[in-house]
Parts: sequence; C-alpha cells; structure tokens
Amino acid sequence: MARVLIIGCGGVANVAIRKCCMRSDIFSEIMIASRTKSKCDALAADLKGNTNTVITTAEVNADDKDALVALIRAYEPDLVMNIALPYQDLTIMDACLECKVDYMDTANYEPENTDDPEWRKVYEKRCREKGFSAYFDYSWQWAYDDRFKAAGLTGLLGSGFDPGVTQVFCAYAKKHLFDRIDTIDILDCNGGDHGYPFATNFNPEINLREVSAPGSYIENGKWVEVPAMSIKRVYDFDGVGTKDMYLLHHEEIESIAENFPEVKRIRFFMTFGQSYLTHMKCLENVGMLSTTPVMYEGREIVPIQFLKALLPDPASLGPRTKGKTNIGCIFTGVKDGKQTSAYIYNICDHEECYREVKSQAISYTTGVPAMIGASMILTGKWKKPGVFTPEQFDPDPFMEDLNAYGLPWKVVRDPVLVD
Ligand code: NDP
Repeated sequence: MARVLIIGCGGVANVAIRKCCMRSDIFSEIMIASRTKSKCDALAADLKGNTNTVITTAEVNADDKDALVALIRAYEPDLVMNIALPYQDLTIMDACLECKVDYMDTANYEPENTDDPEWRKVYEKRCREKGFSAYFDYSWQWAYDDRFKAAGLTGLLGSGFDPGVTQVFCAYAKKHLFDRIDTIDILDCNGGDHGYPFATNFNPEINLREVSAPGSYIENGKWVEVPAMSIKRVYDFDGVGTKDMYLLHHEEIESIAENFPEVKRIRFFMTFGQSYLTHMKCLENVGMLSTTPVMYEGREIVPIQFLKALLPDPASLGPRTKGKTNIGCIFTGVKDGKQTSAYIYNICDHEECYREVKSQAISYTTGVPAMIGASMILTGKWKKPGVFTPEQFDPDPFMEDLNAYGLPWKVVRDPVLVD
C-alpha cells in the first residue's frame, strides 16, 4: 500500500498510470500532477469506477522546484515518478532530496535550452573528455548519488524500455546466460504503421533531437562517434520482418559500459523507414529542428516547438497504428568456457496495446516498465540508497513482472548476429 506522485500526463504517463491502477494493492493512492491539469482530470475521470486506486490530480510546473516541494509536502508520497520530460529531471530530483522521497524517471537529463552558456561549458568539456556529443548523458544525475546515499533515498534512472528493460536484459544475461559478455547489440525495431507520411511515436522534440544527433558506440572502453545515420544494417526481426536499422547514440550504452566494463563493444540500432529519414533530413536542412529561438512577425518562436505543434500528437497515433515492435539485446560471450550467443527480446502489438490501455506500443513499452520500476522500489526489491540504473539491481523480479504485466520476453540461442 503506497502513495505515489506521478508527474506528467502524456503518452507514456497515460500507460503507466493505467497500469498502476491495475495494481491497487501496491499503488493504493496516486496523484497525477502535470502542467495541463485538464489532461490529468480527463484520465482520472476515465479511470473512475474501474480501479480501487484513489486518484487525485493537481497542476504543477515541474521546472519550478519550490512548487514541486510544496506539492510533495502537501501530498506526502512514498515515491515520485517523473514521467514528464528529461528537462525536468534535475528540479524533480532536487525536490525529492529536499522532501526525502524516493525518485524514478524514464529518460536521463537533457537541457531544454542547449544554448545556455553555463550548460554548454560542462557539455563541451564532456564532449572533449568522453568523446560523444549527444545533448544528454548520465553525469548530471549521477552527481546526485552521494546526496541520495546520505539521505537514504533511492533514485532509479531510466526505467522505460530502452533505456530500462534493455539494461535489465543485460543484467539477466550476465546472471544466467554468460560468465563473460563480450558484445551487446541493442536492437529497437518498430514495425508499426500509423498511416501518416511523418509523425513521431513519442514526444517529437525529444525524439527528433535523439535521431538527428551523431551516432556513437563503445569499443574497447572508448566512445567512437560517427555521422548521424551513417551506419546502416538490415535485420530480419521476429514478428516484424526485414527492416533497415541505423546506429544511434543511446543513453544506456553509457551506463552499461560503466557497470559491465568487460564488454568490448556496445552498440544501439533503431529501425527507420526511408520516408521518415527523408522528412527528417529536410526538416533539419531548413532549420526546423533547431532549439534556438527566432523572431517571427514580432514574436519569438522555437522552431522545433513550432514543428511539434504541427505534427500529430503521439497520443493520437494509438487508434491508427497497426503492426508490432520488437526490442531486445543480442549478446555474445563465454559460458562454461565455450563461446556462445543469445538474443533476449519482447514483441509488442500496437493494436493489442490500444485495446488494453488506449495507447500505441511505444508508450506501452515505456509505461509498463515505469510502473514495474516503481513497484520494485515500493516493494523494497530494488530499494537501496543512491542513484542507480536498472542493470545495477537483481533482474529476476523485474523479468517476472514483464511477463506478468504485458511485455513477455523470449531468449533465443545462437541468433543471427549483426556484423
Ligand atoms: P509527452 O510529451 O506525451 O508527455 C510529457 C508530459 O509531461 C505532458 O503531460 C506534459 O504536459 C508534461 N510536462 C512537460 N513539461 C512539464 C512541466 N514543466 N511541468 C509539468 N509537466 C510537464 O511525452 P511522452 O509521454 O512521450 O514521454 C515522457 C517521457 O518518457 C520523456 O521523458 C521521454 O523521453 C521518455 N521516454 C522514454 C522511453 C524509454 O524507453 N525509456 C521511450 C519513450 C519516451 P502538457 O500536457 O502540458 O504538455
């Protein structure tokens, strides 16, 4: 029985909240707090009568630490689930520290304004020292580890699918399938079709920033950076079929490299159709992906935010998306002195997700692990002082819950490897 404050009420939060409400034994009371309270009220009204969880709602600007502190003090939750945007990670962690409450999120910190000179100084130093130039990295949140430890609080970072489940798969492979892991390829395939010429499956600003950035991977303990979309492979995915996939930088590469230093190479690939890539390149070339404000008819606008207003809301894709996702990790390494390989993955069907929680599979595959991560902290299975990523905990109870709550997984031996 716990009381949980959930911040954000977008695509992912909608799934996480619906899933929490299916487990009222753990999530007995929740407060949904977000920037636009009407969205929280609409979801609460939709759930009324269908759950034993007691739901309240509030309006909060999660960029404002003092407002968060006031809300947390008033509600007194056991845990804060941050399912807003990565921009709010640090203010919410600060508020949790001040109020002595456990914290979790689904994506690591990145700044809203990448032209901020204070942030740029730290960023440019990191680019030089570490060798990858993505706008997001774990350093900002890992810097809270000492303070969370001293306060006896748990901070769980990135409990979505990727990051999130992919790291739990790594911990499972290390615990059960390998004595030593040599390589990890994380493969994220979305075989869904929403019928629009161009739309993003989650927050467009975050999504487009991620995929238009240079790709990078870890080889022999060092980052190797390559131009965006310059490494392409073709893979035949179970449940989906053959797709083009491209090497991207992705946040869990950084934490897996830190926690499994013996792994020689860690890469991340995501599938994209040619139409998506052509649209993205064109938007980038005309400046629509820029986060730098421009003046338009006497008003300041941020191009990528204007683009977000034009694109379909990811939440609206649910009823139109058909097809499946297949996300997982291919491992090579050694077990009992023999070279071996394994592929752990989940297949998720967009239409089945919509029938269950009125959402497409991208929000579903993120929202379910957010609920499971929260339940791991609340039930004490993943509760220890400090700031952690999912591969630092025992994978077994999380893997059991994936099977129980909608994301069943398979282990395939000797899979086709990615060259
Ligand atoms: P959405 O844009 O659909 O939802 C974001 C929500 O946060 C909205 O309800 C929004 O409010 C709210 N919000 C934004 N800014 C503030 C603020 N300052 N104060 C309070 N609330 C705010 O995003 P998604 O649901 O698609 O994504 C949610 C998170 O999940 C993101 O961090 C994303 O990066 C992450 N993610 C992680 C994945 C993974 O596998 N790990 C995969 C996909 C996403 P409003 O309604 O007013 O806009």
